[in-house]
Amino acid sequence: MSYRRPRGTYDVYPGGHEPHERPELWRWVEGVAREFFGRYGYSEVRTPVFEEAEVFIRSSGEASDIVRKEMFVFEDKGGREMALRPEGTAGVARSYIEHGLYRQAQPLKLFYIGPMFRHERQQKGRYRQHTQIGAEALGSADPLVDAEVIAMLYNFHLSLGVREEVVYLNSLGDEETRKSYLPELKAFLQRNRAELDRDSLARLETNPLRILDSKDENTQAMLEDAPSIADFFGDEATEHFSAVKQGLKALGIPYKVDDRLVRGLDYYTSTVFELKSATLGAQDTVGAGGRYNSLVLDLGGPDMPGIGFGTGVERILLAASVPEENPALDVFFVTLVPEARLPALKLADGLRAKGFSCDLDYASRSAKGQFRQADRVGARWAVVIGDEELESDTCTLRDMATGEERKIPAGDILRAVEDR
Ligand code: ATP
Ligand code: MG
Repeated sequence: MSYRRPRGTYDVYPGGHEPHERPELWRWVEGVAREFFGRYGYSEVRTPVFEEAEVFIRSSGEASDIVRKEMFVFEDKGGREMALRPEGTAGVARSYIEHGLYRQAQPLKLFYIGPMFRHERQQKGRYRQHTQIGAEALGSADPLVDAEVIAMLYNFHLSLGVREEVVYLNSLGDEETRKSYLPELKAFLQRNRAELDRDSLARLETNPLRILDSKDENTQAMLEDAPSIADFFGDEATEHFSAVKQGLKALGIPYKVDDRLVRGLDYYTSTVFELKSATLGAQDTVGAGGRYNSLVLDLGGPDMPGIGFGTGVERILLAASVPEENPALDVFFVTLVPEARLPALKLADGLRAKGFSCDLDYASRSAKGQFRQADRVGARWAVVIGDEELESDTCTLRDMATGEERKIPAGDILRAVEDR
């Protein structure tokens, strides 16, 4: 019998084939994220990987793809409908309400790193379990928060070496905007329904705004003449959007306004954005987000606005210039006789306690094999212990880069490896 990982998932293991299968790259991205978001005043939040399904249905919308087609739903033993989280914002908003975090100083800036689950057809950059790094700034409607959030995502990608990235930006206005825009859009789509792809036809009643996001070429061509949401902005929406753009200009973030840009989730209002890298193929959105000024209210909390993004680590790693993998170890102990193994184990333990990385042979290798192993693991030093060394309580220190060797008292190893 042989088992394979579930479809649409991947393993992370030493020497992993794809960038997102390599453990050292995860450590790198997550390390940069924690440090980087800290500079903008974000603290970490962790929520469960499953919630009551209703949390996602209420927030993303009944008609959204992730609720309709992609959510992993199960019934718990008490007969409640639960779901593996397809995205991060709903759980964070639920937590913000549950713990009364709106009573803390606002905006409350939160980030998370964790797995998301979507029942999708696997393709490059599209998995059933993927990891998002996300940020949410809750409790402020200031347009400069929008600009800061977008700039943070852009600069985060940049610092990881994501290339050729552009911010696509739009505003969905406010409730008034959509109240006047949607009937116009719907009427236009009705007149052109012959040109609509199947998915879009189905959305005509449930979620016409989402049709703007159709990937179908024919539909897109027809949409060229669709009414633009920007023509329906009131003063407030216009002012907010232009303040966001001014903020981005001041920060030097390259952006393009795309008045067809809508997001797949119903909770978005006002500013929406997608960051796309020209280096990726079909799945070119590295990160995306927007404002959700009524989400907290909709989930039963107070009337608090928010804005955030999610960015997929797998796509970041596909688009980034990932650093070369260089294994590194401070000291490898080469034991020439079995009696040297316990002393080596103890010496290694002492060095590890002082912060040095060490290893020794656990595979009964020959001396030659052990030196080869020291090379493979990128050891800076080899410490050789044989009969002679055991007798004189010394060891032989070899600089693995130059091959230079010297004999030193066993008690001097720490000083010797610290020195250089
Ligand atoms: P798409 O249009 O590619 O399906 P989406 O609108 O479903 O994207 P979001 O819900 O905005 O994506 O998710 C935010 C980010 O999470 C995406 O930009 C992407 O980087 C990543 N992401 C989303 N779904 C997947 C997936 N199935 N596999 C890998 N990464 C994903
Ligand atoms: Mg999707």
